Amino acid sequence: FKRPATAASAAYSTGGGGGGCTCTSKKLEGKVALITGGASGLGKATASEFLRHGARVVIADLDAETGIKTAKELGSEAEFVRCDVTVEADIAGAVEMTVERYGKLDVMYNNAGIVGPMTPASISELDMTEFERVMRINVFGVVSGIKHAAKFMIPARSGCILCTSSVAGVTGGLAPHSYTISKFTTPGIVKSAASELCEHGVRINCISPGTVATPLTLSYLQKVFPKVSEEKLRETVKGMGELKGAECEEADVAKAALYLASNDGKYVTGHNLVVDGGMTAFKIAGF
Ligand code: NAD
Repeated sequence: FKRPATAASAAYSTGGGGGGCTCTSKKLEGKVALITGGASGLGKATASEFLRHGARVVIADLDAETGIKTAKELGSEAEFVRCDVTVEADIAGAVEMTVERYGKLDVMYNNAGIVGPMTPASISELDMTEFERVMRINVFGVVSGIKHAAKFMIPARSGCILCTSSVAGVTGGLAPHSYTISKFTTPGIVKSAASELCEHGVRINCISPGTVATPLTLSYLQKVFPKVSEEKLRETVKGMGELKGAECEEADVAKAALYLASNDGKYVTGHNLVVDGGMTAFKIAGF
């Protein structure tokens, strides 16, 4: 059963959706998505989820070797483009390549990010060069991605932009200062852009994942707990949320991205969707 889209639902669709009906099993049929940091971890899981829902996906990543491998693994509707998000010309090039190849860009996911150095722990000794490096990837890269996607989405009067923040951008003290500061900026960037882009029918939202056992998290935790095995760390991460009976998986974040990117989220913009199994609720409540 497929309900035909009404004129009203088509008019109010703000892009990134799978048509006027949410009952279809493929929520991104015919859509084109570009995912930075898509070679690994959460970006790869999201690419896989988007592909499963009928999208064509361009993976933009600094790591060409892993990116090419990932694109091959994900199948013929996925392709890789090398892109360093700290270089504006690279982002512009990845967006232009996508639009030239597929004729449009429906979903831009600014997901690439790094944690940066663990030490020194004190802000009084912060290495400003390292701080700048983290900000260039986690902040400049996001703003640059929004800018270049918006160039195509504004005239198209359609599109959906996603950005990855973190629970570290909801509550302090979970990660090194540079990372925490960079991730607190993401919801602000999203609010600022949303206030303008909604006028053009373009939605922009943010996802703040809890701790997921990706290469980023595991290398961070291995530095903090060098004697604990990777297997044990993975197990610990899975149970880090407070929600009983649920384990944290990459797919949980990918499904949140699917919701926001698809027509299911057509009335949602400027939002920060926290996917953390109650981790920050617990910390904020202070039990
Ligand atoms: P990951 O290390 O598995 O993937 C990150 C990807 O970004 C890698 O493929 C890497 O090559 C790429 N990348 C790094 N620098 C880049 C650059 N300059 N240009 C282009 N690509 C670059 O990590 P992940 O855990 O999947 O992280 C993805 C995003 O999710 C990051 O923004 C991270 O901060 C955020 N996040 C992760 C977690 C978690 O627990 N894994 C929690 C909250 C937020």
